[in-house]
Amino acid sequence: MTARPLFFAANWKMHLAPGEARTYLDRFLTMDAPRDGRTVAFFPPAVSLEAVATRLDGIPHYLVGAQDLHWEAKGAFTGATSVHLARGAGASAALVGHSERRHVFGETDAETNKKVRAALNGGLLVILCVGEQLAEREAGQTAAVVARQLRAGLAGVAPGADLIVAYEPVWAIGTGRNATPEDAGAVHQVIRSVLAEMGLPTDTRVLYGGSVNQGNVAQLLAVPGIDGVLVGGASLDPETWAGLCAATAGS
Ligand code: PEP
Repeated sequence: MTARPLFFAANWKMHLAPGEARTYLDRFLTMDAPRDGRTVAFFPPAVSLEAVATRLDGIPHYLVGAQDLHWEAKGAFTGATSVHLARGAGASAALVGHSERRHVFGETDAETNKKVRAALNGGLLVILCVGEQLAEREAGQTAAVVARQLRAGLAGVAPGADLIVAYEPVWAIGTGRNATPEDAGAVHQVIRSVLAEMGLPTDTRVLYGGSVNQGNVAQLLAVPGIDGVLVGGASLDPETWAGLCAATAGS
């Protein structure tokens, strides 16, 4: 049986300066080798993009992306990173709509959509993050919230877009709690039906994120329709991340 292609995304959030990122990758690359059918993506802070891209340059199946972008091409947007700036630093992908962007920085669905379209137009692979908050889950609104975020976030996106969706229940991010494989699988089905309703390919890759670690990754990847994981905390240590990336859909 051929292994299902898997995508492992490391969201470093506000950690690992350029020198630290280089040390991390030197260590990581002693423990992990590129593998056909598996992509390992690093999302460092903007200041470390170039260091990571330079260290990974020419190695297949590894990529680097921005954690966030501004939709405008350039201008007076202090602190923001445009698609052009991210690409210039070596990014080939971007996270868009991460829950911390939505709920810490107050990013709206409409802004998320502008970022998605700017990143796709600029030739980046987009990972659109969606997910409900705890109160929404407890009120039985998970499917409605995820569907709303998808419909708004992907408005105007063409079927051939270079797109991945990440389902990240907000209450599971950085909390040590995670959705059961069954719950995650059920939301992944909702995501695929919304993609179908929008005329987008139902074989779009869909990741799970939220307190994924070496102990639970295999169970999650065993769920049909979970095509990989987006990981924060457990990606910050190169040994832990290499161990996690060694998981396969069947292990
Ligand atoms: C994330 O940052 O997207 C994330 C899922 O974080 P953690 O793995 O720490 O829950």
